[in-house]
Amino acid sequence: PQTTQHRRRVLLKLSGEVFGAGKLGVDTATIKGIARQIADTVGEVEVAVVVGGGNFFRGAELSQSGMDRSRADYMGMLGTVMNCLALQDFLEQAGVDTRVQSAITMGQVAEAYIPRRAIRHMEKGRVVIFGAGAGLPYFSTDTVAAQRALEVHADEVLMAKSGVDGVYTADPHKDPTAVKLDALTYDEALQRDIRVMDQTAFALCKDNRLAMRVFGMEGEGNVTKAILGENIGTSVTV
Ligand code: UDP
Repeated sequence: PQTTQHRRRVLLKLSGEVFGAGKLGVDTATIKGIARQIADTVGEVEVAVVVGGGNFFRGAELSQSGMDRSRADYMGMLGTVMNCLALQDFLEQAGVDTRVQSAITMGQVAEAYIPRRAIRHMEKGRVVIFGAGAGLPYFSTDTVAAQRALEVHADEVLMAKSGVDGVYTADPHKDPTAVKLDALTYDEALQRDIRVMDQTAFALCKDNRLAMRVFGMEGEGNVTKAILGENIGTSVTV
C-alpha cells in the first residue's frame, strides 16, 4: 500500500571540497567527523548522500587544459566514487549500515543505482551513498543531488557548504555589506544569481517544489542539525 507513513527522509549533498578539506585527496579526520554526525541521526531520519568529486577532478577544468570534455567528466565521476568509499568506511566504523550505489557499474565496489532498492535500504535504516554522479558527462553532482532527492522522495535536499554558513545577499568573502538570509525563494535565488547550486539543479528543485537548506559545515554538529530538520543556515523554497 502507498499509505505507509515514512520517517523524515533527506538527501545530503557533500561536495568534494568538503572531503578534501580544500586539498587534493581525502581528509580522513574530516570525513570521520561527518560520519559521526550522520551516525547520530540514524534510526530517526532516513539519509541518502550525494557525493561530489571536486577534490580529485573537475571535468570543466581538465577540458580547459586540453582534455576531451566527456572523458574528463568520466574522470570526475570516478573521483566521486573514491569519496563514497571513504565515507562508507567511516560510517561503518561508526556502526552505521551503508550501501554505495554507483551510476557507473562497478560491481566489486558498489551496487548499481537502483532507486527502489535505495528506498528499501533507507527504510531498513541504511545510509545510501550515491556515487558517479548521474553517470553522464556535462552534469554536476548538484544536479544529481536534486534529481536523486526527487527520485527517492526525499523531503528536503541539504546542501553542506564549507567556508560559508548559508546564502548571503552577496559574496561575504568579497563584499563586507553582504547579509545572511534566513530564507528565500527559488525565484529570488535565480534573480539574484545566487550560485549555491548550478542553474539546472535550481530549476529541478523549483519545478518540483523540493525544499532546500543551505548550511555551513563548520558549526559544531551542523550536519546532525540539518538532517534532524533544525532551522540552521538558509531555507530555499518555492
Ligand atoms: N560529473 C559528471 N556528471 C555527473 C556528475 C559529475 O560529469 O553527473 C563530473 C564533472 O566533471 C564534475 C566532476 O564529476 O566536475 C566532479 O563533480 P562536481 O564538480 O559536481 O563535484 P563537487 O563540485 O561537488 O565537488
